[in-house]
Amino acid sequence: MSEQDQHHVDRDEEATFSINRRRFLQGSSGALLAAGALGPAFAHAAASGEGSARSGGRQASNGQEFDFGNGATAPEGVSSVPASATGRPMPDLEQYDPVAPDERLGWAVVGLGDFALNQILPAFGNSTHSRLAGVVSGNADKARQVAQQYGVADSGIYSYDNFDEISDNDDIDIVYIILPNALHEEFTVRAAQAGKHVLCEKPMAPSVEACQRMIEACRDNDRKLMIAYREQFEPHNLAAIKAIRDGMVGDVNLLSVNTGVSLDPEEPSAQWRLNKALAGGGSLYDIGIYALNASRYLLGEEPTQVFARIHSREDDPRFAQVEDNVAFQLIFPNGAVANCTSSYSTPKNNEASVFGTKAWLRMAPLSNYYNHWLIVDDGNQRIEPSIQEIDQFAAEMDHLSRCVQDDTAPHASGEEGMQDVRIIRAIYESAATGEMVSIESDYERDPNLLITDSPNLPDVWQQSDS
Ligand code: NAD
Repeated sequence: MSEQDQHHVDRDEEATFSINRRRFLQGSSGALLAAGALGPAFAHAAASGEGSARSGGRQASNGQEFDFGNGATAPEGVSSVPASATGRPMPDLEQYDPVAPDERLGWAVVGLGDFALNQILPAFGNSTHSRLAGVVSGNADKARQVAQQYGVADSGIYSYDNFDEISDNDDIDIVYIILPNALHEEFTVRAAQAGKHVLCEKPMAPSVEACQRMIEACRDNDRKLMIAYREQFEPHNLAAIKAIRDGMVGDVNLLSVNTGVSLDPEEPSAQWRLNKALAGGGSLYDIGIYALNASRYLLGEEPTQVFARIHSREDDPRFAQVEDNVAFQLIFPNGAVANCTSSYSTPKNNEASVFGTKAWLRMAPLSNYYNHWLIVDDGNQRIEPSIQEIDQFAAEMDHLSRCVQDDTAPHASGEEGMQDVRIIRAIYESAATGEMVSIESDYERDPNLLITDSPNLPDVWQQSDS
């Protein structure tokens, strides 16, 4: 063993990274190296026509057997596979076993805008416990068209005006509210009063008082309320939480979490976002909430103080009513500081870095719909686990369906949503006063809740067996 190899072994034994490095190499960079080695050879053959009859090369000998086996005795399972089509045992599934259609809970989606049509409705196709049973829209033609596309019965189509009649529809158990922020309260309350459980988009509502009324309406009607924090079901985020809880990065001192997007005021979905009455606020409510929520679930703690600055360019008419750039700092009880930003004036971006005493961890993006990326680096060695993307939207909907079926509490409760709104209000107060603001709240959540019994937690931080 070379000195360098010995050095690596020593480092492995010392390191708190207890990942199976061989598996990691096979899972990511090893596969890439193999592809790189084969790729150019294939490219050359294809480009030159080498080996093909057309190019004038060697004539193919059809029917000739080629045997590149080494002649060893194959394992029993390899040699005994039947040559004809055959049934095999049920394999382990990576997510919950799907249940039959009539055992899935029926969902109605309220608001057929960008997010509902492009992300949520298609996600029912990947769900295991949920099915689309209703649509609610202010546009009757659109509602009918979408209902036809997804096989929703005419009896499952509602307008905002006759929405309360949903109480008579036993085929609908859960209502998913995907309306502009200021309308979340009205439709959550109406849904609960109609006897339906609720999944409500983030941010929960513009004010803490509105959040409180939503919680009370669901409690009074004995209905479950969940806020749609999809990234709390996303495997890279769950792997990051697990790494932090297992001590891979050591004691966390600093987080840096940034979010941005560029809003085009010609787009209808941007127009209400720039309207304070409908949005509640600007980039902070819409996307800064991802930085805030991630800081909280990554650390598994609640911040006690905030300090913030907000700035919008005076000559940009988009920001006549709501803020553009926000920089806020969260102070956590264990001493960690999170530096977070949100902006409506940058190309789309979101990322999180967590700096601990032993290593740092980075996710970029942190909260996209797909294509996440996670690394852990101790200054000498970098681990980039291979994590399979899942349909986060289906995962969060199925979580609520299962909570309803099993009568358990959703991970992202109304109180969880209200806590973000409470902190957002404190961020505004700090920016307005220039003072550090204390957060008065007794909200707490089990720091391991999101990674306990989660079918979406990837098995990447293995104990080393090499
Ligand atoms: P959107 O503008 O594309 O859709 C809004 C829908 O609400 C439209 O169908 C619109 O017709 C309807 N609507 C009803 N009353 C309205 C009114 N007075 N003004 C404007 N629209 C009205 O917006 P969106 O991007 O789909 O966002 C909807 C909600 O979903 C927001 O709360 C947003 O924060 C949330 N969202 C969440 C995610 C996520 O990843 N979790 C992503 C995008 C949006």
